[in-house]
Amino acid sequence: MGWGPNKGRHAVPNMTHGEGVYLFDDKGNKYLDWTSQAVCSNLGHDLPEAVIEAAEYQMRLLPYAYGDIGQPEVRTRMNQLMNEILPGDLRAAVYPSSGSEANEAGIMMARRYTGRQKIISWYRSYHGATSNSSAATGDSRRWLNGDSTPGFVKAFNPFPLFFKPGGQNSTEAEMVESSLVMLEEQILNEGPDNIASIMTESVLGAGGCFVFPEGYMQGIRALCDQYGILMHVDEVMMGFGRTGKMFGFQNYDGVVPDIVTCAKGISSSAVPMSMVACSGEVLDFFEDKSIGWGSTYQGHPVAIAVSYENTKYILQNNIVGRVQAIAPLFESCMQRLVEDHPCIKQYRAIGLFGCLDVQDINGKNPKLQHEAAHDAFFEYKKEFIRQGLVGLHRYPHIHCAPPLSITEDELIDGFERLDRALDVLDEALGF
Ligand code: PLP
Repeated sequence: MGWGPNKGRHAVPNMTHGEGVYLFDDKGNKYLDWTSQAVCSNLGHDLPEAVIEAAEYQMRLLPYAYGDIGQPEVRTRMNQLMNEILPGDLRAAVYPSSGSEANEAGIMMARRYTGRQKIISWYRSYHGATSNSSAATGDSRRWLNGDSTPGFVKAFNPFPLFFKPGGQNSTEAEMVESSLVMLEEQILNEGPDNIASIMTESVLGAGGCFVFPEGYMQGIRALCDQYGILMHVDEVMMGFGRTGKMFGFQNYDGVVPDIVTCAKGISSSAVPMSMVACSGEVLDFFEDKSIGWGSTYQGHPVAIAVSYENTKYILQNNIVGRVQAIAPLFESCMQRLVEDHPCIKQYRAIGLFGCLDVQDINGKNPKLQHEAAHDAFFEYKKEFIRQGLVGLHRYPHIHCAPPLSITEDELIDGFERLDRALDVLDEALGF
């Protein structure tokens, strides 16, 4: 995947195998995976034995069954396990193969359940690459996909780019209040009876690790309740432990969505797999009605078997607790980079997910359209790889999201490598 015009300007290593948090290329070079690939290889690159055995066992037992014709036994176990870990009365509903598909299904469910069409989501969000999930997306990938799907409305959350809701000197509480007032105004202008769902990531992921301030998600929940709108939380990137909670929305006291979509961490991406969960009421509605969404590979037995063992591993090895324990070290390393590198303006982090904001010598986000900044990032990216790191880049943010299984020593080693790569970015940006 290429994020930004640098694509194709550096050679991507040919990986041969993985071991823990490391990947090895065909020249024998070893790389620390700094973003768990696409923030998805959450257990690193050698899987627990139980996961591998479950795949093999399922392949021998019943490699495939179409959900509507014959449900594999492992799906019943998976439903039970998901229902145990999902809070409130959330229940597993369907198991598509990707985050985009899960969001497609979640959008269709919200529309059919409410009989309404519009979906409100945020600018600077990412929800996927299929028609509706892309239309719900707020970042530039939406326009690159043509931006021609009707029924989607974009709103600002408390983090617009160039102004603060409530005024430049507003406190966090004032920003929350102002953005909720603006959102309600927007709901009223769109017609509450036309709006099926408000869709939000629990923490803006690709957009740059924005954790919503106290009261915002609770405010969204209240607006949804007031106007009969479903709250759809996209947990594709944050779900299954990334933020130090099993689901990212659990960082917001008392918030239980109506629809939750997960992917990536559910299988640690060893197989393509996702899930849509919804409240008991929504699920009951579909008891005798079609959801309207389907796919040959939904509920794939091998994908479910792997995801079931992957989730058991996360629970049995207290991966969520490990993330909480290592998070302070993660933050202190990020803070250190802010102090040591003039090209880094600030960091944001939660659990093992963080983001550094790059600035130019004027204290502004350098724009990739500017050839000089473009070249600076290119130099940095080459150095990043030379230092033995691999990861996704989405300027002007530098994402840090290593596998949740990373040890303290490996984490420190990763930050030391990043530190050296940032020396090159400082210099290339003219500091
Ligand atoms: N939603 C979020 C929050 C994501 O981060 C992503 C992918 O990065 C998606 C949806 C799309 O998932 P997929 O790439 O599996 O289709």
